[in-house]
Amino acid sequence: MLGVDSTFDIQHSPMLRISRPHYDALRHHGEETYPHECCGVLLGRFDGDQRVVTSIARCGNTRDDSPHNRFNIDPRELIRIQREGRELGADIIGFYHSHPDHPAMWSATDLAEAHWLGCSYVITSVEKGKAVVTNSFGLNGSDEQAKQLITEKIAVE
Ligand SMILES: [Zn+2]
Repeated sequence: MLGVDSTFDIQHSPMLRISRPHYDALRHHGEETYPHECCGVLLGRFDGDQRVVTSIARCGNTRDDSPHNRFNIDPRELIRIQREGRELGADIIGFYHSHPDHPAMWSATDLAEAHWLGCSYVITSVEKGKAVVTNSFGLNGSDEQAKQLITEKIAVE
């Protein structure tokens, strides 16, 4: 971090910036798929340590063996979303999923299956069909062995 000016630090601290409609939409998605997990992709741009969502893409959960506590995005679907995003000048900046009747904290599986360093992982707890808490975690670290999910602020704009 450069400089000691506190305003500088606030402006550049790791953060997910998202519009109210997109925030509501990803929370609502978890209510729709309850008691199964929902999942989707966040498209947008990187702005220093901040990730700015410009659109979201819903994905089908391909984990039909254990859809209440696992999710998986079809790689072909991910490639299609990435291509369509690039046509709009947007990158994949994160992913979201829901935790039916579990807290909005990442699990060991979530960390193990998170591979996009520098992206945001958003988790919404859905209790009895109602979205409750939404948290975001940045996947930090220089490589797969050193990766960590770090709590980051969500700025709903
Ligand atoms: Zn999870």
